Amino acid sequence: PNRQDNKDKETNVQVLLRCRPLSDEEQRSNVPKVVSCNENKREVTVMHTIANKQVEKVFNFDKVFGPKSQQRSIYDQAIAPIVNEVLDGFNCTVFAYGQTGTGKTYTMEGGMKNKGGDLTAEAGVIPRAVRQIFDILETQNADYSMKVTFLELYNEEITDLLSPEDNSTRPIEERVKKPVALMEDGKGSVLLRGLEEESVYSVNEIYTLLERGASKRRTSETLLNKRSSRSHSVFTITVYVKETVIGDEELIKCGKLNLVDLAGSENILRSGAREGRAREAGEINKSLLTLGRVINALVEHSAHVPYRDSKLTRILRDSLGGKTKTCIIATISPSAYCLEETLSTLDYASRAK
Ligand code: ADP
Ligand code: MG
Repeated sequence: PNRQDNKDKETNVQVLLRCRPLSDEEQRSNVPKVVSCNENKREVTVMHTIANKQVEKVFNFDKVFGPKSQQRSIYDQAIAPIVNEVLDGFNCTVFAYGQTGTGKTYTMEGGMKNKGGDLTAEAGVIPRAVRQIFDILETQNADYSMKVTFLELYNEEITDLLSPEDNSTRPIEERVKKPVALMEDGKGSVLLRGLEEESVYSVNEIYTLLERGASKRRTSETLLNKRSSRSHSVFTITVYVKETVIGDEELIKCGKLNLVDLAGSENILRSGAREGRAREAGEINKSLLTLGRVINALVEHSAHVPYRDSKLTRILRDSLGGKTKTCIIATISPSAYCLEETLSTLDYASRAK
């Protein structure tokens, strides 16, 4: 089949674009804006000047969320349907992709204080998904169990964000890095040996774990310079629901939701020349690069999907492609100073659909 036929097939990859507002400081210093969002037309326009000429570039997405968009509306419109799929027994993945400082962590985690199980207006995708999953299962009076893992991937090494705090006097590199081994079971599934898998029974338990993992990530960021802009975090909820009992046999439906806060997209290298130099400096983000290739292959319905080329795509293999649903939230800044990165995020993201 030719490419056009392939493109016309239904795709399970959805791409959303979110533009953050200018920060107070950016507003005070009158930073010029170069991005305008049209939510109804699902269009983003970038205006800039090349050789004294105004240039406009327009990009289209499945959904567009402008600077005034609320955490809740992104969740309700884009993520809630995905969570329903998970409860129906499918594996799904949500990615936040964009330059450092454009709102990936804000979108995924948001204001994290969710005391007493109540969501704040600032709460991001992760706490809202957790809330929705519990709400639905409780309403259905379902017989269920749930497991949560939270890992960080840095330089193709996996670290457990839920492992207990190490307050020893060992070198910081060792304390932050509790190695997790990625193994294959021969049946196409991967096993992460050494990764804590916490069984959870209430919303508050998950919020506590999430806060623990997120604060661990912040600590390692402060201690290991700039680490977080180069690391990916993967929060995974696996839900098991007992469906029916036929004689002695129990039928259990299992679905998995992966919520991924990717490394800053400025870590992807675009020109061959830069790639050579960066490889020497150990700066290539193999997982980010491979993820782009995997998503392109899925969207194009290619015969070969290069899952095996990076740790991130190996970890997510059973949740990317096939019947699984994938949602990419691309984040940008409206500032003129981010123009170059904004254009490359828009290019990358609009190619993913
Ligand atoms: P990233 O994770 O992509 O590096 P952050 O999520 O840390 O970026 O966001 C950078 C800053 O901008 C944070 O202070 C965050 O609270 C703020 N911010 C990001 N997106 C929004 C938004 N949509 N509305 C309000 N503030 C935002
Ligand atoms: Mg972040």
